[in-house]
Amino acid sequence: MNACASDRQLQEQIWSWLHQVSDPEIPVISVVDLGIVREVQLSAASGQEVHCTVVITPTYSGCPAMNVISREIIAVLQQHGISDVAIQTKLSPAWSTDWMSEHGKSQLKNYGIAPPAQQVIDISGISRKRSQAPKVACPHCGSLHTVCVSQFGSTSCKSLYQCKDCLEPFDYFKAH
Ligand SMILES: [Zn+2]
Repeated sequence: MNACASDRQLQEQIWSWLHQVSDPEIPVISVVDLGIVREVQLSAASGQEVHCTVVITPTYSGCPAMNVISREIIAVLQQHGISDVAIQTKLSPAWSTDWMSEHGKSQLKNYGIAPPAQQVIDISGISRKRSQAPKVACPHCGSLHTVCVSQFGSTSCKSLYQCKDCLEPFDYFKAH
């Protein structure tokens, strides 16, 4: 096995370990599926210990959860024998709900939170504000017959909706 192949394997391993780290505010979804982890960089001179840098982008600026997430990432990698871990925070481009994986969105839905219903960034990479309210599907019954009850749900990144069919209230994770 040459060094490059083993590096790639290690990198894949690290990504799978990072799936064990979840966002403290949304424990059902991993930081990888949320799109917080941007990059995993490895560097090792031959015969020396691997140095790993994990690049993360906070979901919301000044989000106190990021310190918790950084500590968790370091702890998980150390459990797997990678002791030399650095966390690098990258603020630009800003995190967008577009980075959430399809798997992550279905996990949100199973948790009872309606996932972001629209793409924020168009093909030119420009973020646009939509004037129209998105059609949000009820995470319980799938009905599109829903209304926004309050712009602010349990946290500022969510709105409170109610389903007109099954009458259940639910949080909608706002696209941004
Ligand atoms: Zn419903």
